[in-house]
Amino acid sequence: MIHRVVEDISTGSDSDYSSQWISWFLSSKGNEYFCEVEEDFILDRFNLTGLNNEVANYAQALDLITDNLDDDIQDELRGSLDVQARLLYGLIHARWIVTARGLSKMLDKYKRADFGRCPRVLCQQQPLLPVGLTDIPYEKSVKLYCGRCEDLYSPKSSRHGSIDGAYFGTTFPHLLFLVYPTLIPPKSGPTELGSGAAPPAGDSRTRRRLREEPDVTAAEGGGEAISTTSVAMKAERYRPRIYGFQLNEIAKLQRWQEAVRDRQVARLEALEQQT
Ligand SMILES: [Zn+2]
Repeated sequence: MIHRVVEDISTGSDSDYSSQWISWFLSSKGNEYFCEVEEDFILDRFNLTGLNNEVANYAQALDLITDNLDDDIQDELRGSLDVQARLLYGLIHARWIVTARGLSKMLDKYKRADFGRCPRVLCQQQPLLPVGLTDIPYEKSVKLYCGRCEDLYSPKSSRHGSIDGAYFGTTFPHLLFLVYPTLIPPKSGPTELGSGAAPPAGDSRTRRRLREEPDVTAAEGGGEAISTTSVAMKAERYRPRIYGFQLNEIAKLQRWQEAVRDRQVARLEALEQQT
């Protein structure tokens, strides 16, 4: 008898768990960047450590996203609870996409270019990856990282542009390339992932060389008030980080690039003094 009751409870809870809220959330317009967080990840309390301090009505919000919310409560709190449930799902999502299974789900989306493609012409339609500028919610909206030019872009649509960057976190795209190093895009040539990628327009190497030529005319036109040094030094660069640490290879490359830049600036300064 007892055995039968236990059996009923277990089968009952299995069928009750239908992930309706999550499928509704994922299918809503504007939520295309999110992937599905698997049930057992959400149901493992360990994965949610500390989130009760970040989300108001945490228990009910968790019940809502796992479709276990009492019907009575649903009517009273429904409105505010939905906001809290989105926040909770977003924060769980940020933790999920840096797990092995989460990474592989996001990889599928990356391969389909669900996050869009780099607008920079020489990146040749490189698919982008979502990234946060901070891991703290309500601070910065989500940005898109291009693995080829190693720069950040704002999402094209305002729906995507208003998503909290903390739902993706600062680590995700860089961890993806660390775990799947074969996917690191080449610095030139067409993108391998790209289905329907535009063919390269001309030789990208010659174009790059042209672009790197110092623009002396612009410096002259700027007048005396503008110092090339201060302009070059003020140029902000994005520094990829995994769990707050700068990536070794990229950091090395950036130091090298900055040394080259500094030498170039010194050369331009000498030129400016001559005129
Ligand atoms: Zn790019």
